[in-house]
Amino acid sequence: MTTLLIRGAALLGDHVEDLRIRDGIIAARGALSPETDERVIDARGLIGLPGLVDLHTHLREPGGEASETVLTGTRAAAAGGFTTVHAMANTSPVADTAGIVEQVQRLGERHGYATVRPIGAVTLGLAGQQLAEIGAMARSTARVRVFSDDGHCVHDPLLMRRALEYVSTFDGVIAQHAQEPRLTEGAQMNEGVLSGELGLGGWPAVAEEAIIARDVLLAEHVGARLHVCHLSTAGSVDVVRWAKARGISVTAEVTPHHLLLTEELARGYDARFKVNPPLRRDDDVHALRAALADGTIDIIATDHAPHPTEAKECTWAEAAFGMVGLESALSVVQQAVVDTGMLTWGDIARVLSSAPAEIGRVAGYAHPLEIGSPANITLVDPSHAREWSTADLRGRSVNSPYLGRALPGRVVYTVYQGVVTVDDGALVEPEAVVAAHEEAPRG
Ligand SMILES: [Zn+2]
Repeated sequence: MTTLLIRGAALLGDHVEDLRIRDGIIAARGALSPETDERVIDARGLIGLPGLVDLHTHLREPGGEASETVLTGTRAAAAGGFTTVHAMANTSPVADTAGIVEQVQRLGERHGYATVRPIGAVTLGLAGQQLAEIGAMARSTARVRVFSDDGHCVHDPLLMRRALEYVSTFDGVIAQHAQEPRLTEGAQMNEGVLSGELGLGGWPAVAEEAIIARDVLLAEHVGARLHVCHLSTAGSVDVVRWAKARGISVTAEVTPHHLLLTEELARGYDARFKVNPPLRRDDDVHALRAALADGTIDIIATDHAPHPTEAKECTWAEAAFGMVGLESALSVVQQAVVDTGMLTWGDIARVLSSAPAEIGRVAGYAHPLEIGSPANITLVDPSHAREWSTADLRGRSVNSPYLGRALPGRVVYTVYQGVVTVDDGALVEPEAVVAAHEEAPRG
């Protein structure tokens, strides 16, 4: 089947139009009648969004296959409505050579659930001592444009300067995990009254804000592009707002969980709520939402961080940092900023698709749902609500902070390069996805 007709979706949450997909491309848009042998999807009542793009995903392969693989991670991505993910470099071995990034990119291509854009390490082995093979990764067939030591901060200012200078020569970007290491030694949760009460090591806001302040100034000094991962504090928002007003080339992301959850969840010592950076205060959540609405924060990125059960079912202090987030992202975002009236679905298409694609220099997302664009489409039922359970998690790990919580919205269809990967709410099996790609050449 090479043509598909999506009928009656509210495109970008706005006006209702039909979409015809042919050979992996959006071929027509408007009031369309079915053609012979065409598959028709009845999308009345659904919102039509462009395929979502995640700039911050941990796929764990190679080396962490017990938690996630490129296959299971891209299945989780499809379930969440994502058609492109950027795979973080903190695998084992680390993605610090052309060989590793090409391997990760090829695995994504073979499975056919989403485009996998590897992120290259900034420093060899994420050790913070010496620059990785940045140029070789950029020139490789994976064409890496985003570099990050995520999980670690590039804390040496001279290395950070050199990395910014290097990537600016080919339009790359450094995505910084802003965490001053000395200020966060032994840190377990947000620093404040509650960390004292719970007897957990405090993670001060200034540990994040000081690095961001330094890095925006470095980016200005060398004329390079900087991206700041997972902003979590009101102070970080202030620094980014100041830098943008000054004309510095900086973009910033926020995770769905930092838009919804607060440090109060640490009270039960349930390590599902342990994350890096930590959940902050209510004031921070409100500042992050407002910054997303006014454009200070450019994008939402999941920081999907799968961990095996044993890494979470232990004491808070021993547990790993991180939570899975691909499957739940859109629902959490709907609850935090759409249902609260702060962002429209059109805004969501920007912060979860076209803007992250622009930062990562991913082609095909600049003109959401327009004729001639690759057919990467997500159809969402915003009126659906359910209690989140492990059945909603499609990756290999279940460390979700939302289990047992009611969340709105549901991804009903995901179309990737013209191939249906989520069909009426159900993930399509791998063999069928591969066969469909073979049948319909990619646009
Ligand atoms: Zn990080």
